[in-house]
Amino acid sequence: MIQTPMDKYDQHLGKNDANYVPLTPLSFLRRAAEVFPDRLAVIHGVEQRTWAETFARCRRLGSALAARGIKKGDTVAVMAPNVPALFEAHFGVPACGAVLNALNIRIDAEIIAFILNHAEAEVLITDGEFSSVIREALTKLDKRPLVVDIDDQLATSGERLGELTYEELLAEGDPNAPWTLPEDEWNAISLNYTSGTTGNPKGVVCHHRGAYMNAIGNILAWGMPPKPIYLWTLPMFHCNGWCFPWSVAALAGTNVCLRGVQPSAVFESIMEYGVTHLCGAPIVMNMLLNAPESESLELRDRIQMMTAGAAPPAAVLERMDAMGFDVTHAYGLTEVYGPVTVCDWHEEWNERPVAEQAALKARQGVKYPVQEEFFVANPETLEPVPADGETMGELMFRGNVVMKGYLKNPKATEESFEGGVFHTGDLGVTHPDGYIEIRDRSKDIIISGGENISSIEVEGVLYKHPAVLEAAVVARPDDHWGETPCAFVMLKADEGATEESIIEFCRENMAHYKCPKTVVFTELPKTSTGKIQKFVLRERAENL
Ligand code: ADP
Repeated sequence: MIQTPMDKYDQHLGKNDANYVPLTPLSFLRRAAEVFPDRLAVIHGVEQRTWAETFARCRRLGSALAARGIKKGDTVAVMAPNVPALFEAHFGVPACGAVLNALNIRIDAEIIAFILNHAEAEVLITDGEFSSVIREALTKLDKRPLVVDIDDQLATSGERLGELTYEELLAEGDPNAPWTLPEDEWNAISLNYTSGTTGNPKGVVCHHRGAYMNAIGNILAWGMPPKPIYLWTLPMFHCNGWCFPWSVAALAGTNVCLRGVQPSAVFESIMEYGVTHLCGAPIVMNMLLNAPESESLELRDRIQMMTAGAAPPAAVLERMDAMGFDVTHAYGLTEVYGPVTVCDWHEEWNERPVAEQAALKARQGVKYPVQEEFFVANPETLEPVPADGETMGELMFRGNVVMKGYLKNPKATEESFEGGVFHTGDLGVTHPDGYIEIRDRSKDIIISGGENISSIEVEGVLYKHPAVLEAAVVARPDDHWGETPCAFVMLKADEGATEESIIEFCRENMAHYKCPKTVVFTELPKTSTGKIQKFVLRERAENL
């Protein structure tokens, strides 16, 4: 940090209580409740609450936790699908100074135990649906946290494991408790473990300031109007629902909860509640497109959808548009609070052919207005690559929407911040218009005969094949070429294709050296956040 000498604009003009308040998304909740107390904040089946009621419940949660001794530096973990309790935890937990650790609901007992031990969780709030995995995880803990059961009316299964229910915990709290902001906006607000496909997961620590910034960043980048009706198709545990619990509060919108993302439930919610906005990984778009219900879908208005988490194939973007969804493509990582770049749209692009528009939109784009720098560079020299759409480098961030670091892992923190920028581990190019496009995660790139092949590019071609439902391309070891692209493909129901016909289709649509040499027809293994597990496929490709 550079210290500048005091000048006349500094003397007697310091920070004080009147002119400086720590930035925190906790402020958004209070405002929503003050300005729109009667507007619906949360809909979960018959359970519907206004902003005033939600604020009261969050004050209860914060004060009940505080009364049980939870304070700054403590961790409160939550294992839940998109239910009101997890939404409330995004406010109630930091309100008592503690850090919210939303757990990925698909992970197994071993990893849950690792995380709870590593985070030293004092409290675990858990939904009945996960009682068997949580029961097993609890047996593996160094120290048992206070276990609180969410007794959700819409849960279909589950058993109580804890000392009390979530509603009983709220009953211990005070609905009029003072709403305390953190003393310092740099305090941690959330802890999210990355999926950790190799080794133990890393705990990404985010701060109040960054969460505040990116909640606003979402609104700016997506052009969100006041009062959105926001459908929770994105897991709220995934990078804190990409900061959207806080964005929706800032706009005093309505959260429509969903325990799962079956297309029928998504379409029903859209129709019933007049949903205006939703988010999801490209796999969610694919699921909606291929659901039988999509054929009879008649949307009253166009729906705004933000996609991120994996590269959306241009063909999928094109079909979503035709179904009535305006798709905004964003990109980010847990380390940058979820999405923090967007393929910001230029109006003149509307004149281009539809397929070209989809290709433009498939790019990860440019930084959010709240992020300082986003660029592609040589990872060693940090020299930016030329904007030629060809030279690959690593995607880097710098600015206020970057994590504090990894919990209790100074080595990983230092490595990721080497040279004063955050290294994403994603590889891509800068186009002449300055827009950035991901070509791969560094570990997913295929090197064949010395040439780099982007698995995403090959997948983009495969998704254009009319019989292909899902596709993933990984490297397969090859004696002659070193590696060759190996495609794993799931066909649409009632469609057929042969390995030869798929390869032939690829040869017609891209440079021959990039075409898959092997095609395997199979279901694709996925993570809970909708990413195809390429490491599983790589192992399979090695053993073919
Ligand atoms: P993990 O998948 O490791 O749990 P994240 O959820 O933070 O962690 O995922 C971030 C990664 O997802 C990025 O590094 C990138 O590889 C991928 N990703 C996210 N958004 C996009 C996108 N729009 N296009 C391509 N890849 C994306």
